[in-house]
Amino acid sequence: MIEIENVRKSFGPLEVLKGIDLTVQKGEVLTIIGGSGSGKSTLLTCINGLEPIDSGRIKVDGTEVHARGTDLNKLRTKLGIVFQQWNAFPHLTVMENVMLAPRKVLGIGKAEAAAIAEKQLSHVGLGDKLDVYPSRLSGGQQQRMAIARALAMSPGYMLFDEVTSALDPQLVGEVLDTLRMLASEGMTMICVTHEMKFAREVSDRVAFFSKGVMAEIGTPQQIFDAPQNPETAAFVKMTQ
Ligand code: ATP
Ligand code: MG
Repeated sequence: MIEIENVRKSFGPLEVLKGIDLTVQKGEVLTIIGGSGSGKSTLLTCINGLEPIDSGRIKVDGTEVHARGTDLNKLRTKLGIVFQQWNAFPHLTVMENVMLAPRKVLGIGKAEAAAIAEKQLSHVGLGDKLDVYPSRLSGGQQQRMAIARALAMSPGYMLFDEVTSALDPQLVGEVLDTLRMLASEGMTMICVTHEMKFAREVSDRVAFFSKGVMAEIGTPQQIFDAPQNPETAAFVKMTQ
């Protein structure tokens, strides 16, 4: 479970998260929608401890992320994170890229790491690309490699930040299909996305962020068909 309690976060004078309260249960798929600058990415980077918070608390499986003494490297093995773009190591093959973190962070031996990489790459449909170099992959394949890389750490949670935003339109579908597959397997996921159709289909709950506030949260039906907050209604109308 991810528990977010009254989290506030500023960058200089700009308050970007204004008291966020949110709990994500094991097995849940939560999508976060909202305008540019509303704090969506910042929340994800706070959840995995990349950014400090000013007040409040974030707990992952009961461990407080920002408490003194928390082993962030250990905690991050539980939280797979995939961004818009990931720069793979160009001199390593796809499989070597995916093996890297299990080897270096978890200390897993070469043969076992190779087996994990092969399994996860096959899982995202890249079983035939193990030995090619990342520059030979399409954008959609590169994003699926990034997902396989995160999955290779056996995370309990996956955080996705607009993983299809940098892709050509014809490549978006294959990456969303991968996310749908993970959701159907029961992976606990927080997805920041602009893909409203995807959000509607895959989410257990949708959270709408506006100017650092979680203005509304509910089922896809509640948020897309019967939003209570006028800002949610305007956003949904604009993006559909
Ligand atoms: P988008 O949909 O454009 O990705 P977002 O909801 O993810 O937007 P954030 O990236 O969380 O928004 O940014 C929230 C606000 O915080 C923005 O005004 C942004 O300029 C600011 N911000 C984000 N990161 C930093 C930083 N490292 N230093 C200063 N300001 C930042
Ligand atoms: Mg963002």
